[in-house]
Amino acid sequence: MLERIGGFVETLVLAPGLCGFEMPVCEIMKREFAACGLKPEVDTLGNCMAKIEGTDPGAPVIMVFAHMDSLGFFVKYVDPDGFIKLERAGGIPEKVLPMTEVCIGTCSGRYLDGVIAFKSHHQTPPEEKYKVDRYQQLYVDIGASSREEVFSLGIDVGSPVIYKPRHTRLAGNRVLATFLDDRGGCAALLELAHTLTAEPRPATVWLVASVLEEYNLRGAMLAARKIKPDMSIDIDGGAPYDTPDLAGEGHLRLGGGPYMDIYNFHGRGTLNGTIAHPAMVRLAEAAGEKTGIRIQRQAYVGGLTDSSYVQFENGGIMCLDMGFCIRYCHGPCEVCDLGDIERLTEVIRAMTNLVDRSFDRSR
Ligand SMILES: [Zn+2]
Repeated sequence: MLERIGGFVETLVLAPGLCGFEMPVCEIMKREFAACGLKPEVDTLGNCMAKIEGTDPGAPVIMVFAHMDSLGFFVKYVDPDGFIKLERAGGIPEKVLPMTEVCIGTCSGRYLDGVIAFKSHHQTPPEEKYKVDRYQQLYVDIGASSREEVFSLGIDVGSPVIYKPRHTRLAGNRVLATFLDDRGGCAALLELAHTLTAEPRPATVWLVASVLEEYNLRGAMLAARKIKPDMSIDIDGGAPYDTPDLAGEGHLRLGGGPYMDIYNFHGRGTLNGTIAHPAMVRLAEAAGEKTGIRIQRQAYVGGLTDSSYVQFENGGIMCLDMGFCIRYCHGPCEVCDLGDIERLTEVIRAMTNLVDRSFDRSR
């Protein structure tokens, strides 16, 4: 199971999938859902949805989703010497950008390598040494010598730009890779496709690989309008507090198993977040008890997910944000623990099995 999840993670993190350009990831999801005997559908926005029919039409319908898209950039301007300026898409941490390798999508769908440049150390005056540049000051070098050369390679204004995809196994079950947020969640969906199709349950479960989370947090909302679920579980990556710089600020630990957000709120411009529906927290706790897996709890300001919009669909959907820890989240080298994803899928599987028509929806 762990190795199967590791294989899904590796395949998924190496696929380009900037928000709005998720199709390479969607193709993998479609193929793997189909390999489990499911019939995936893709909607206009690009959400990939697969239905696992339950045995009782009277049981609540469950949507489990994870986002396929990653943050990145779009090409904004190419200067006469062939250097490329960027517009950002999503929460890009500017601290890590200089010397980060990137790939730029061309009109043929091929991705070309480049690097976000930085002023050589010898030429950096002391006052610039500890300064973080804004992304508007940065540029990408793809080796071209002129604007014409860049355009002739198939790059244009609006071309997608992503961190250069990478995947490395670290000690233990840890993985260092690009886009673990949220291809790790997509890997969990694929693992669930395998385990949920192998056994019957009263409730119908929809697995949804969603789009546009890093952009506007509303891809899964469209899926919810189609599926009309009663309850929804979002799988995403969350930042733990177990590194020296964050000691004492929170409980989440990498390798500590899955977590659930009791409360999250963006608090940095978006007036939204999710306070978990109490019935969903009870369901997760019951599944944790049944599987013997401890579920970490989180309450924080600084992030949110599509659940914050999904909860208002279909006359109100009971939502819960669950996830696995990712260190250095949104950077080009994120770190996760495959064991966390494995235990997360076991808990969610148990949750879906516990839901029947007598499910207590009270708050
Ligand atoms: Zn995410």
